[in-house]
Amino acid sequence: MSRGDMAKPLLGHRSMEGDPSTTPAAGRTIGVLGSGDFARSLAIRLVCSGFKVVVGSRNPKRKASLFPSAAEVTFQAEAVKKTDVIFVAVFREHYSTLCDLADVLAGKILVDVSNNTEINYHKESNAEYLASLFPACTVVKGFNVLSAWTLQSGARDGNKQVLLCSNNQEAKRTVAEIAQVMGFTPVDMGCMSSACEIENIPLRLLPAWKIPILLSLGLFLCFFTYNLIRQVIHPYIREQKNKLYKIPIEVVNTTLPCVAYVMLSLVYLPGVVAACSQLYYGTKYRRFPDWLDQWLQHRKQIGLLSFFCAALHAVYSFCLPMRRSHRYQLIEMAVKQAVEKKMNIWVEEEVWRMEIYISVGIIALGLLSLLAITSLPSIANSLNWREFSFIQSTLGFIALVISTLHTLTYGWSRAFDENQYKFYLPPTYTLTLLVPCTVIIAKVIFSLPCIQHRLLRIRRGWEKGRYVKFVLPGATGEFSSGETSSNV
Ligand code: NAP
Repeated sequence: MSRGDMAKPLLGHRSMEGDPSTTPAAGRTIGVLGSGDFARSLAIRLVCSGFKVVVGSRNPKRKASLFPSAAEVTFQAEAVKKTDVIFVAVFREHYSTLCDLADVLAGKILVDVSNNTEINYHKESNAEYLASLFPACTVVKGFNVLSAWTLQSGARDGNKQVLLCSNNQEAKRTVAEIAQVMGFTPVDMGCMSSACEIENIPLRLLPAWKIPILLSLGLFLCFFTYNLIRQVIHPYIREQKNKLYKIPIEVVNTTLPCVAYVMLSLVYLPGVVAACSQLYYGTKYRRFPDWLDQWLQHRKQIGLLSFFCAALHAVYSFCLPMRRSHRYQLIEMAVKQAVEKKMNIWVEEEVWRMEIYISVGIIALGLLSLLAITSLPSIANSLNWREFSFIQSTLGFIALVISTLHTLTYGWSRAFDENQYKFYLPPTYTLTLLVPCTVIIAKVIFSLPCIQHRLLRIRRGWEKGRYVKFVLPGATGEFSSGETSSNV
């Protein structure tokens, strides 16, 4: 954006109907203390949103050229006098240097935009600290979850939510209106005690992904070691053959589908465990153990990681014929065949196995892609509950069944070939089948009418052995909820 563009407020061209610019906040003068990256982006966004901006700097002459010409850059005290709402775009460590401004700041709204470098680094939040330094001001915590870059790109890109908290409702509402006019979505996080939580948000590194990532890494490591023993160590020990070249592609490519397949089954396994628990206790109101709760909450991430591994497996498989080792093996086979004068090497069964194996693999990957896309919030929000549950639950289960077919056609009769039991270890695919087959069998059992009916009743609130007083028209009496349901 050129400086000329920045100077023109965009609001003048907007329609007024239902526009946030019609709120009392629009057009008012906003102060910004500090002239760093955040202050500059904030000033640009405020100017573009139709606000008058006054920036307070310790050295306005030097910093003025960094700001849009529509923004006034002046000394801190001068800036503060011209406005009632001031964004403090200064690090916490420098708050105390602003104490000279306490008198001019009295009665004004200070917006604390600061972040820390570590979670819970200080005993009290930055906003509470600012409030303690300026007791005559009203402090609102907010805007810290936005980066300087997001502020500049505004509503077009990046995170649009602005989390706000304050002990003063009026001040919070004023700042929320400003955020709205700027094109962001204000989210009320309550009173000042939430400031610490808001300050910790930008510092968290993928909190919902920690367990799923560790789980997939653990599975990858286990299957990788298992495949390494079978594909590299076994031929070396038994036949003194050096197969180390297999590690980067072949071993990885036999490991990835194992992880993808088991992870996909782990998306559906907690549902099966939860259903078993509900059937056993005859109620849905009994709390699940914490580990099951956590597992249920991480299903989306586990599913996305399963898709990620499956996609990598597809790419690796696509590249298999590109390898030098593959070309040498093909030539070696052709030469061997010529020497043995074999004309026909076509094995009908192998041809069919491969055709079916690849076809169901592609279908499974297609379904997994669909599951991954519909788990994105923007897509999920456009689906109603039935559509979402059909895709995630029904199509997801179909993806698991098709992945099982993919695995079975890969294995074919290998499980019955004793040469496949290297160091007495069964082929990897037989191990991967354990959890998914358990899930599939459990789901089939749950779909039996008698069990499905009971499960449905439990999920609609029915409880085993619980007596409820029913008053029927024309008669009074006590019935157990079970009795009543069966009568209906
Ligand atoms: P910065 O580029 O280092 O700017 C800090 C500004 O503070 C300086 O330009 C300076 O402006 C002013 N300041 C006032 N008193 C000061 C003093 N005693 N010593 C040094 N500087 C003093 O930092 P920033 O990236 O803009 O961050 C500012 C605040 O926004 C921080 O609290 C940060 O946590 C928060 N924040 C930043 C981002 C981001 O993406 N950058 C995102 C979220 C939150 P003058 O020299 O003109 O006085």
